[in-house]
Amino acid sequence: MGMTMIGPLLIKFGRPDQQQHFLPKILAGEHIWCQGYSEPNAGSDLASLRTEAVLDGDHWVVNGQKIWTSLAMDANWIFLLVLTDKQAKKQDGISFLLVPMDTPGITVRPITNLDMADEFCETFFDNVRVPRDNLVGQINKGWTMAKALLGFERIGSGSPRQSAYALKRLRLLAERMGVWDDGQFQDRYTRLRLDLEDHKDLYETFVEKVRRGESLGPDVSMLKVNQTELYQRITETMLDIAGEYGAGLGPMDGNRDLNPAGLFLQSRPSTIYAGSNEIQRNILAKNVLELPG
Ligand SMILES: Cc1cc2nc3c(=O)[nH]c(=O)nc-3n(C[C@H](O)[C@H](O)[C@H](O)COP(=O)(O)OP(=O)(O)OC[C@H]3O[C@@H](n4cnc5c(N)ncnc54)[C@H](O)[C@@H]3O)c2cc1C
Repeated sequence: MGMTMIGPLLIKFGRPDQQQHFLPKILAGEHIWCQGYSEPNAGSDLASLRTEAVLDGDHWVVNGQKIWTSLAMDANWIFLLVLTDKQAKKQDGISFLLVPMDTPGITVRPITNLDMADEFCETFFDNVRVPRDNLVGQINKGWTMAKALLGFERIGSGSPRQSAYALKRLRLLAERMGVWDDGQFQDRYTRLRLDLEDHKDLYETFVEKVRRGESLGPDVSMLKVNQTELYQRITETMLDIAGEYGAGLGPMDGNRDLNPAGLFLQSRPSTIYAGSNEIQRNILAKNVLELPG
């Protein structure tokens, strides 16, 4: 999250002293970041967040709760969306704060996921004092940054790497299960492979934009939807050919590359995180296709 989300955000919106302080530490892997966006009642409707920050002298005092904070137990910094003006229209009262995870008052409680891993957490803030200078950009202007960061996150989740990895595992599995030469399987595999090649081309057009220093528009949602749904189609195909190993018996032959049920489970949340695919479709309908409603 350092390299792919907060780093690019600081390059675009951070003060020079913030860039000088944080960017080298991100590159060196010294700062491990997590993302404090979602709350129990603010997921898709992120602007409804309730975690608040109130100025007290040279510090912000933060109170509230975040949820689904990936790898918060391993992170030493969190970037937070906080409410700084309760009276303003939702999007106009939000600010963007950088908070060290060892600040007194922060409690992290891991949540075990379907794959039995402690991947994400509940993160609580109880009178957490954060230096005033840890604000990025201007007070109450955090929504613009929140959206820009989601663009960076979506180009990350739209990367073809996950699907390419899964397709390699599908081939290994097909060989192991003796269906690699089966005509019907070859039809399915070839379609997935061609879809992956198409997706790589699509991804490259967005990467080129980033290389040219252009801002990402709402159309980046297309990349996220396309990649995550392809990833799921590949892992669903794995389950179809895996026989009893599709029921979650763990890796076949003790080989971690042959773990169809594990990869299937890992692929399921990809259509939820970084903004659910339903929400991405809404964004595309409204802001790209300009459909009514
Ligand atoms: C593995 C994983 C890791 C995550 N990591 C992080 C993290 O590190 N930091 C963080 O802040 N968050 C994280 N999240 C949270 C993620 O961003 C939210 O789960 C996501 O935004 C959806 O919010 P929600 O869970 O509250 O669902 P809800 O917003 O309650 O939505 C429930 C369902 O309703 C649908 N829905 C909601 N509104 C609409 C609408 N207007 N139109 C159509 N359909 C709609 C959604 O698509 C979804 O299917 C993570 C989630 C997962 C699964």
